[in-house]
Amino acid sequence: SRPVIAIVGRPNVGKSALFNNILGRRVSIVHEQSGVTRDRVAAPCEHFGQRFLLVDTGGLGIHSREKATDLFDGMIREQVAEVVAEASVLIWVLNCQDGITPQDQEVSDFLRRTGKPVVIAANKADNDMVRAEAEGAFAALGYEHIVPTSCTHRLGISDLVDRAMQLL
Ligand code: GDP
Ligand code: MG
Repeated sequence: SRPVIAIVGRPNVGKSALFNNILGRRVSIVHEQSGVTRDRVAAPCEHFGQRFLLVDTGGLGIHSREKATDLFDGMIREQVAEVVAEASVLIWVLNCQDGITPQDQEVSDFLRRTGKPVVIAANKADNDMVRAEAEGAFAALGYEHIVPTSCTHRLGISDLVDRAMQLL
């Protein structure tokens, strides 16, 4: 069966936008509101002949200001943990325009404990200045694989998938 590549990260960093970009079509819901992707969304993909299953997840470490109850958040976290356990490689999405937030730090701690290979998508790198700043800041996290992406400008997507494939 196909190896699983899971897209993880806190809400609103662009996980669903990235999922749709990799697929080349809109499957997952991209939303202005935080924490909109409640259910896992999965799609079979192929990149230069290599097949995999791409999974979009709801936000890790959600601190909801919306309707969601703690129980609901707990269920989402459990679902994310399940997907992560099944995954061969994790794409961890960060928002270049926000830098590293306390929630990102929590996600980082969680990801390290999984021991899975991680590629950071330094997303919302819409221009060179934002990208350069973020690359410096994200390097401090100590992850080997960081690829700048911009889902709105469709930049870096193929490089990101290449990198993830190399870790399969
Ligand atoms: P998720 O909660 O992590 O799944 O985030 P979404 O995919 O729903 O995106 C959250 C918001 O970020 C939406 O308004 C997107 O249009 C926006 N977004 C996603 N990728 C980019 C990007 O590369 N650049 C910019 N400027 N905005 C982006
Ligand atoms: Mg989403």
